[in-house]
Amino acid sequence: MHYISTRGQAPDLAFGDVLLTGLARDGGLYVPADWPQLSHDDLAALAGLPYPEAAARILAPFMDNIPPDELLAMTKAAYAGFAHGDVVPLRQLTEGPKSHWLMELFHGPTLAFKDVAMQLLGRLFDRELARQGRRVTIVGATSGDTGSAAIEACKDRDAIDIFILYPHGRVTEVQRRQMTTVLSDNVHNIAIEGNFDDCQALVKAAFNDLAFRDEIAMSAVNSINWARVVAQVVYFITAAVALGAPERKVTFAVPTGNFGCVFAGYAAARMGLPIERLIVSTNRNDILYRFFQTGSYRKDQVVATQSPSMDIQVASNFERLLFDLAGRDGATVQGQMDDLAERGGFDVSPAALAQAREIFQSHRVDEAATTQTIGDVYRDSGIIIDPHTAVALRAAQDLDPDGPVITLATAHPAKFPDAVEKACGIRPPLPEHLSDLYQREERFAILPNDLATLRDHIRSLRRT
Ligand SMILES: *Cc1c(COP(=O)(O)O)cnc(C)c1O
Repeated sequence: MHYISTRGQAPDLAFGDVLLTGLARDGGLYVPADWPQLSHDDLAALAGLPYPEAAARILAPFMDNIPPDELLAMTKAAYAGFAHGDVVPLRQLTEGPKSHWLMELFHGPTLAFKDVAMQLLGRLFDRELARQGRRVTIVGATSGDTGSAAIEACKDRDAIDIFILYPHGRVTEVQRRQMTTVLSDNVHNIAIEGNFDDCQALVKAAFNDLAFRDEIAMSAVNSINWARVVAQVVYFITAAVALGAPERKVTFAVPTGNFGCVFAGYAAARMGLPIERLIVSTNRNDILYRFFQTGSYRKDQVVATQSPSMDIQVASNFERLLFDLAGRDGATVQGQMDDLAERGGFDVSPAALAQAREIFQSHRVDEAATTQTIGDVYRDSGIIIDPHTAVALRAAQDLDPDGPVITLATAHPAKFPDAVEKACGIRPPLPEHLSDLYQREERFAILPNDLATLRDHIRSLRRT
């Protein structure tokens, strides 16, 4: 298996180098040159397997440089620390032909779905760095949940220094403390005076400064890193199989920010998983919703919401879909990205939009509906959901597709206690391992939204 860049100008790479590289050198994102196929029998054979075993089977063709027994050992280690035996359990909300299910993706150490990919990624990095005898400096931007998951996966690893940028004052206190209370020598938190898109743009700019990138051996664990996306393909497949795939088609409702998670669902479909629809659920930051309505992808202002991990206008993984919609023509994607940077947006052709709508459908959920949905679910079922999950659940309820629906529950409600308490009157407690979070010492730097300052800061703190 080799990987190609969405902008067509970077060298093809094998999995190990895609993992360490993150962003392609032409500014594009790596995608597999072909989608490995799962036959009807392959899918059926996954039924009933423990999650780590299903993961190792599904991931094997993407990571064909790793011997199968080693890959299985890594998936087992990655998911051993999850608080639920099923790793990503399904919970039934309603019965009948349109049964509705929650897939709980938040049982990892930092209580959001990002752990599912990140816990594996840390181990993949370790293996590849040891094999190549290299060290890396990971620089990442977070809208709240990626940062803590990345830090948790990378802390205390000898061959890694990690710098996480987050928007100052725009993540919740739980999210911030989950990052800033990790005091390991190799962990550096940076509060940027700006919003998440500013943080993401700074990371991209640092990446595109090729001299600096080489100087610090820079790498990424944001969802631009292919290894993260592919790790998320697994739970779409296992959940669909649990509900009757390949015989029965299911719909997934996915709370969406950077388009990473929902792109993993698309990848599962490209691999042969029968999917009825992927519901791209957004909060008021609705660039993706507007795109799927009109074919026009146009930046707007970012507004702060109760679901901060989705307060994003430029969804970096969307480029991976654009590449397929452009018939995998890198020059077209490069032109679109130039227009986005210079003119604030671009339009795709009617044919490309129609192709996207064959599987994707989008819905936007406002703040009042989010709050109402948390309250309704609690009153109807006693289950407390977080605001991100509520956005997706509400989108699924409003669109009401045929057949079973699985809403991805992407965060534990205790990560967003204020929004949850306002909606249902209950303040969900943090699990035991985080119960003293508010008493722990914090460490972080506050930096202006400026690339030169960031570069100096990283140079002064990274270990060599
Ligand atoms: C990151 C995140 C999302 C958005 O996922 P993307 O892959 O960026 O689309 C949704 N919900 C929660 C809780 C998150 O942490």
